[in-house]
Amino acid sequence: MKKIAFYGKGGIGKSTTASNVSAALSLAGKSVCQIGCDPKNDSTRLLLGGNCRSTVLDVVHEKEDEVEYDDVVHTGFNGIRCIEAGGPEPGVGCAGRGIIVALKTLEALDAIGNPDVILYDVLGDVVCGGFAVPIREGYAEEIYIVTSGEMMALYAANNIAKGISRFANRGKVRLGGLIANSRNVHRERELIEAFAERLHTKLICFVPRDPMVQQAEIRRQTVLEYAPECEQAGVYRELAESIWNNESDCIPTPMGFDELEAMVYHYGSR
Ligand code: ADP
Ligand code: MG
Repeated sequence: MKKIAFYGKGGIGKSTTASNVSAALSLAGKSVCQIGCDPKNDSTRLLLGGNCRSTVLDVVHEKEDEVEYDDVVHTGFNGIRCIEAGGPEPGVGCAGRGIIVALKTLEALDAIGNPDVILYDVLGDVVCGGFAVPIREGYAEEIYIVTSGEMMALYAANNIAKGISRFANRGKVRLGGLIANSRNVHRERELIEAFAERLHTKLICFVPRDPMVQQAEIRRQTVLEYAPECEQAGVYRELAESIWNNESDCIPTPMGFDELEAMVYHYGSR
């Protein structure tokens, strides 16, 4: 079983990329379970054809100790098991804490079972206690950081790398690589490649920005479902295959903010 996680800044494209990768892996014959760990609760929207009916935290609040498997595990595209950890109402409680409760509940229910791939989709703006749980507690062993060439995306990516390097010394967690999700930034691929090299990791895939993603999204579908023959679908299939075959396991070497800023300036200035 491959236990992977996608981390990255909010809005960078984690859930879109994760859902397309899950769809591609599933279409290639693998059993897949995708778990959203973001208070937005929309990780699995493109797989379920709409927002998840009930998150783990919703059901825990409602039924306390009587949560059942079917309450929290939803079947999506091509049989993919979809779970949303859930989060507190805005302004109340701690989102990270919710992830801890949700993952413990799933464990107690044996809800994850034994699929070929478990993919955790985790918000990584802040690697606070809660959001670090999939890394810290060994739920995910291979981390992929989704980033663009924008400063703030790289800033978050570098922070996530710091989190991984801290916990890697104690457990099995490793950085699998970076996934570039393009924002059409000047010399973006070169910048992300340089950033990857500096972290002692690699760029697994450069995903172009493509309007087909929105065309699929407004139909609540992945590109793999909506337009399996298009180029972008091919990119996601390649990414899925690279992840499936990836054996590199790096402990990243993050950098300081000044160095990161200088790197972004070097590639970004015209
Ligand atoms: P996150 O899960 O990181 O918060 P999302 O996956 O929800 O981010 O993506 C944010 C927005 O970016 C969505 O509207 C999505 O359609 C769009 N998007 C993501 N990747 C691409 C891409 N490669 N090309 C075009 N639009 C994209
Ligand atoms: Mg998301």
